[in-house]
Amino acid sequence: MTETALREAIVEVAQAIDRAGYCPSKSGNVSARFGDGLLITPSGLPYAKTRPQDLIHLALDGKVLSGERKPSSEWPFHTEIYKARPDAEAIVHTHSPRATALSCARKGIPAFHYMIALCGGADVRCADYATFGSPELAANAVKALEGRKAVLLANHGVIALGATLAGAHGIVAEVENLAGQYLDLLASGLEPAILDAEEMERVTARFAGYGKLG
Ligand code: 13P
Ligand code: ZN
Repeated sequence: MTETALREAIVEVAQAIDRAGYCPSKSGNVSARFGDGLLITPSGLPYAKTRPQDLIHLALDGKVLSGERKPSSEWPFHTEIYKARPDAEAIVHTHSPRATALSCARKGIPAFHYMIALCGGADVRCADYATFGSPELAANAVKALEGRKAVLLANHGVIALGATLAGAHGIVAEVENLAGQYLDLLASGLEPAILDAEEMERVTARFAGYGKLG
């Protein structure tokens, strides 16, 4: 993909998560690996006003390589995830409502539904709380993402990573869907039946077979 096409694709995903209601008060941010670094959305700029030239090109140590605007305040977790995860080509962070509600109870999502496998394993963990934009939050997110493509951030929101922007976007949407179903179940007073590890491995193998993971 050319740099121009990648910039356009990042802005498209940022505007799509905003339209979906996943970014109240201009929360969230989007990045994609580019060369030895990444392209990331600017801090605080409404998505509807964000243009491809507003993105910032960062090195993996956070140094600004080009761009006029301030990079997302969450650049530490974007850079730490790219450093720790060679499988991450794109990262989408949102404050989508149902997943964020669950994160405020500091609860992850267990395998109450087989689609959890889309997130890389048998659950979506909730990372320990740390202040937004901090190196501590970055470390907590990387730890809770081990073997996973999505994580809840305590009292904050969600991060998803993917081999493509579309993949990361799809996972962030699925996490919102699953979090909503899980909250509804808990609210109903019914006890979720959790799928066991063996079944989740079977589902993961099936997904791999038809290209659902990637
Ligand atoms: P930025 O606007 O700086 O990207 O911050 C939004 C956010 O979600 C912080 O966690
Ligand atoms: Zn946030």
